[in-house]
Amino acid sequence: MTEIRDFLKTYDGPSVRLMEVCGTHTAAISKNGIVRMLSPSIRLISGPGCPVCVTVTAYIDRLVKLCLQPDTVVLTFGDLMRVPGSAMSLNDAKAEGGRVRMVYSPLDALRFAEEHTGTTCVFAAVGFETTAAVYASLLEEADRSGIRNFRLLTSLKVMPPVIDWVCANQGGIDGFIAPGHVSVITGSKIYQPLAEKYSIPFVVSGFEGEQLLETIYALVKLRGKPRVMNLYPSVVREEGNEEAQRAMSRCFEPCDAAWRGMGIIPASGLRLHGDFARFDAGSDGLLEDHSFNTNCRCAEVLTGAVSPTECPLFGRVCTPQTPQGACMVSQEGSCYNYYISGRGSK
Ligand code: SF4
Repeated sequence: MTEIRDFLKTYDGPSVRLMEVCGTHTAAISKNGIVRMLSPSIRLISGPGCPVCVTVTAYIDRLVKLCLQPDTVVLTFGDLMRVPGSAMSLNDAKAEGGRVRMVYSPLDALRFAEEHTGTTCVFAAVGFETTAAVYASLLEEADRSGIRNFRLLTSLKVMPPVIDWVCANQGGIDGFIAPGHVSVITGSKIYQPLAEKYSIPFVVSGFEGEQLLETIYALVKLRGKPRVMNLYPSVVREEGNEEAQRAMSRCFEPCDAAWRGMGIIPASGLRLHGDFARFDAGSDGLLEDHSFNTNCRCAEVLTGAVSPTECPLFGRVCTPQTPQGACMVSQEGSCYNYYISGRGSK
């Protein structure tokens, strides 16, 4: 490890830009002070890996509308409650009488529905492949148990199309720190077509500081090579979790999806289908993205076009206590992590 640390600190070869596309990696990079361990020639860029951050305002607006309907309650994780919609957040709606309840797991949401049969319980289902697999098993349980008042408002995304979008539209990325959690479900092989299409390496990484340093070291060494490497073999297999993949296929089918900052990306989302479509709370057509604060640059931050510190509101108007955009709300958001760690001050 000493050799790797020395290499990364003193590297003076061609500049390398690496992107992480996982909110947990973004948080781990901040927590472990990884950026300060790197030579100025190695730049880390946060990509669209935070599920809350990539969710468009139309989705928040729909949740707000639902929670204000009679006999309906919106169940959600806490960070989504603070994300500004085009006019208000779920927290604001709650203050105006909306029925919003924070849950700690999707299973909590299902149990709540089971105990409140006279209420339509809408769970805010955002996330990538990892959480889609959890939602699939939850829906199969709801189906088996005959729970009829449980719904999902989905904003589910899949990773390969957005990586393709970033490479095609943003460019200048020399390699990807491939997401650890997503890869558990999908397997590491899903990155091979992208590696070949753009002649760049992908390295699947764990979340410890040393694992991230090993990943960055591998990516620098593999620069320009269309390789996929799995440095998280304790949980990630080449084929992924095939049982979870089958459960996802039973419940969801691919669909076009809107991403904050990127617009509509074909086949980048998942929607309920078949018998499971009856659990849908009205997730189609949530495509618009009107920023609450027009000076917020979340859209460019999410694609790596600008660093959070280049946003004029960063740290002044926009802080974790006064977020103006989703990227400052979520603990996996780029702006939040840059703010709490001083990452942008390198
Ligand atoms: Fe938006 Fe705040 Fe990030 Fe600026 S610092 S891009 S306002 S979330």
